[in-house]
Amino acid sequence: MTAIRKPTERAPERLGPLAKLPIFLELDGKRAVVAGGEEAAVWKVELLAAAGAAVDVFSETPCPELADLVATYEAGRVSILRRAWTAADLKDAVVAVGAFGGEEAARFAAAARALGVPVNIIDQPRYCDFQFGAIVNRSPVVIGISTGGAAPILGQAIRRRIEALLPMTTASWTAAALAFRGRLSGVLRSRAKRRSFWEAFVDRLFAARGEGTVRDLEALAGEISKETVRKGEVVLVGAGPGDPELLTFKAVRALQAADVIVYDRLVTQGVLELGRREAKRIEVGKRGHVAACRQEDINDLVIDLARAGKRVVRLKGGDPTVFGRAGEEIEACRAAGIAVRIVPGVTTALAAAAALNVSLTHRDHARRLQFVTGHDRNGRLPSDFDLDALADPRATTCVYMAGHTIAELARKLIARGLRRETPAALVHNASRTNEKVERTTLGALAKREGGAQTAPVVVLIGSAVGSATGDCAIELARPSAPALQAVL
Ligand code: SAH
Repeated sequence: MTAIRKPTERAPERLGPLAKLPIFLELDGKRAVVAGGEEAAVWKVELLAAAGAAVDVFSETPCPELADLVATYEAGRVSILRRAWTAADLKDAVVAVGAFGGEEAARFAAAARALGVPVNIIDQPRYCDFQFGAIVNRSPVVIGISTGGAAPILGQAIRRRIEALLPMTTASWTAAALAFRGRLSGVLRSRAKRRSFWEAFVDRLFAARGEGTVRDLEALAGEISKETVRKGEVVLVGAGPGDPELLTFKAVRALQAADVIVYDRLVTQGVLELGRREAKRIEVGKRGHVAACRQEDINDLVIDLARAGKRVVRLKGGDPTVFGRAGEEIEACRAAGIAVRIVPGVTTALAAAAALNVSLTHRDHARRLQFVTGHDRNGRLPSDFDLDALADPRATTCVYMAGHTIAELARKLIARGLRRETPAALVHNASRTNEKVERTTLGALAKREGGAQTAPVVVLIGSAVGSATGDCAIELARPSAPALQAVL
């Protein structure tokens, strides 16, 4: 009998060591000093000026790009002083940047530090109190990226990825928020409503096709003010087979918006880490023969949480609608009047096909793709299987939860006429770092000892399963080939 467990809440994770602390300096109207006028300094001058600083550049031989910068900004933003710097020039500066080497670098850093001015000497880490890093600019949203000096090219690559994820319109929507936020508490008096407003704002920002304006936000606040009590909801989210990269963007968004994440044992740590930091995480271990929470308890838990106004993410391995008892959870939510929706995920069979490098519906091998469960409510092979369908030689069959019953199933399929040589494969821990593939045949499966299975495993059976390796027992080049006739 399966043991019953109570849902367990996880303690919040502590922050790991931080190589650097990212802080965002307010430079508007402040003074910055850059010494050394060569090209290396130009980009730093531009950064400081773009961030609003009045930049004094000390250089006896300034490069032409510096003169261009002076012309780009309004008068006084970038000033070139054609002389060597002195310690007195660093007074009142909020940051100091040097573009030189040797003894001058040491003197400059010492002079700045003596005045308590943070200093950066380009490409000389020991004279740097701070680094600039790579930047994604969607001002007012600014993202700084540091690789701790390990690999600036990595920083650039990370920047490009973040840029691809963050719509350009982030800037206008965020600027509108900045202009509107002071008025928000006048429009929405309750804290809960203001939180709903900001969550809806984020949804709009990411879904936006165009620029955002203050009027958009006024309209949004109007909508939120008309809503009665904040309603909780339940989102059944597919966590995929384990590799966090197989999550959908939608799944990540739902995880990021969650108040509570109720998850199954099959969900991996890497996926959980993508959840909102503040979200409460509750494990309702459910896996075949391992201690599990009762389905009714899980239903009650998610309903109670949603009733309390929480956004509940019910995170399930693979796809929630494939052997995930989603049906029961959906019915329970509906009966309780709780809004429920589904975010699909990559089901295990698909990750297993990727692991095997095969096409599940290879035209020469399979006309039918079927997902079946290897055990019923009592942990036995279901007695109501359509064995003729399962023994179809032109099908690919993916057996979930098959650890204990696969030999029995294989014997039944052979008895129904499926050839012993039919290729089969067991994929353990599909898509995870410890993924393991075992290629075999139906005949060998039939002789397999059923043992305690700790890792999740899915079993694929069918001619298509052997198609990529050339070890397919039934070599079928074309459906009309004599070989096919022989099989059929
Ligand atoms: N909803 C899930 C299936 C849940 S049933 C999905 O769509 O994939 C649980 C079964 O799924 C396990 O017994 C095992 O057969 C399979 N499974 C889940 N994750 C797996 C993984 N990473 N590797 C292999 N099998 C897995």
